[in-house]
Amino acid sequence: MAYLALARKWRPKAFSEVVGQSHVVQALSNALDSGRVHHAFLFTGTRGVGKTTLARIFAKSLNCEEGMSAEPCQQCSTCQSIDEGRYIDLIEVDAASRTKVDDTRELLENVQYAPTSGKFKVYLIDEVHMLSGHSFNALLKTLEEPPEHVKFLFATTDPQKMPVTVLSRCLQFNLRVMRPEQIENQLVKILGSEAIEFEQAALHALAKAADGSMRDGLSLLDQAIAQGGGAVKTDVVENMLGTIKAQHSEAILQALSAKDVEKILHVIASMADDAVDFAAALDELLMQLYYISMAQLAPAAFTATDANHVLINELAAEIDREDVQLFYQVGLISKRDMALAPSLRVGFEMALLRMLCFEPLETGSVGDSGKPDAETLNTAASANSEKALEVSGAGGASIKTGSDPAAPIENRTPAAGIQPQTSVAKQPDAAQPSSIAVTLAGNNEWGELIEHTALAGLSKQLAMNCACEKIDQHEVKLSLSPKLQHLLKPERVDEIQRYLCDALDRQVEVTLEVEESDKETPAECLERLGYEQHAQTRQNLHNDPGVKVLMSEFGATINEQSIKTV
Ligand SMILES: [Zn+2]
Repeated sequence: MAYLALARKWRPKAFSEVVGQSHVVQALSNALDSGRVHHAFLFTGTRGVGKTTLARIFAKSLNCEEGMSAEPCQQCSTCQSIDEGRYIDLIEVDAASRTKVDDTRELLENVQYAPTSGKFKVYLIDEVHMLSGHSFNALLKTLEEPPEHVKFLFATTDPQKMPVTVLSRCLQFNLRVMRPEQIENQLVKILGSEAIEFEQAALHALAKAADGSMRDGLSLLDQAIAQGGGAVKTDVVENMLGTIKAQHSEAILQALSAKDVEKILHVIASMADDAVDFAAALDELLMQLYYISMAQLAPAAFTATDANHVLINELAAEIDREDVQLFYQVGLISKRDMALAPSLRVGFEMALLRMLCFEPLETGSVGDSGKPDAETLNTAASANSEKALEVSGAGGASIKTGSDPAAPIENRTPAAGIQPQTSVAKQPDAAQPSSIAVTLAGNNEWGELIEHTALAGLSKQLAMNCACEKIDQHEVKLSLSPKLQHLLKPERVDEIQRYLCDALDRQVEVTLEVEESDKETPAECLERLGYEQHAQTRQNLHNDPGVKVLMSEFGATINEQSIKTV
């Protein structure tokens, strides 16, 4: 399909076609019609709101062969050549690519000469704030004593970066960011004229994604038409934008409301199948929470035009106000941390898990046996084995991702039998050994040996996940489960050998076979000890005389999820 980009085809050619900038259009029209036109204008506003478009229409209005007016004829050769970008007296400069003082000097040297064909020589300088200080000085001289036949039209996204001396000599117009519905209406109009089929929800999503820029909106529309085979379809647009589908967004909100972790993880998995942009999905979720909060606290001011208006009102009635605030806050912090998360999906998932793990105290997160929270957390942990949940203290909960279940353990304390302090312990099911102080000494000889080396990082992880089949004067034979083969790199084996030689103070050769072994690896040993220790911790806590008194006399209950060995 041979096709002129919509953004170009539908670029406004007359003031009457400009969307959403009526205040500017009015002022410019008045000036043109009165015949008194200032010599320097500055159009400010974010990208794609029509700064250079307005400037070009303005240039036509000034030079139209039918005479200066707010309604240029659009027919004469001047009007047409300006539309086609080849009018000799309209000098367009992109300051972003032309910041050197020499360039500006060259440009301004010609200012004194009369226009070639029109009445005015029009200088349109885009991104004018990018000019250097010297260039601004050169420009300033011209602005102070401008020749009669010259008009300057400046456009910038960043007027703060311009010298006050230049600003003060310009008439400034601030172009407004376009509202989604203005963009949506324009899309409807264009598609109508082009006789292209569309679904309204698709346009709604496009208009939102355009983020106030008509130009971006039209580019997205072009893409959507191309990808939709000549029509604008909602599912195509959602996939194209990587936006969270309405059905997913609703499902997440409902699951949050019901505190249903399993469902949340299920929806996220389905979002991942659709290659959703999880950063954008978190933004969308924050928007929904904002709407819910608005519906709760300022129903009169709540005028969401979204299709899920009904749902928002339902949820506003269902979810506690405090919870909505909390969800929003947690989401905001998670958004900040998202770039640091192992992946955007993990960041998003953790945001939602956190929302459900932090609970306002008065809602009774300390249940008699930790239910139902303990249950939902168990579900979460088992449904997604990549993550370990660790919930601490009643004053505030924290979750952290465990890396590999068999990750090496830091800060191990020497074992004095298994007699942990019992303030907190972990749930057996969800527990990962990574924060539990257990030791390999006396439990796993190979692991003990690794501990005596200076091995670290992934090489250490590899060693910890190997079973030792044989160790003698000259040789160390290791085996690695095929399931963990991803850990194997020749240079890591070399490193293990080097550090072993150092620790043993003799030359040994390390060989590694990928095969299942019936011997316990250090990592497995730590995991087993961790679970055993946790069970012990839990037992100790329940047997603690002080705790018993608290429970019997004051009706205290133990929040099982918060139990952690320290
Ligand atoms: Zn004309």
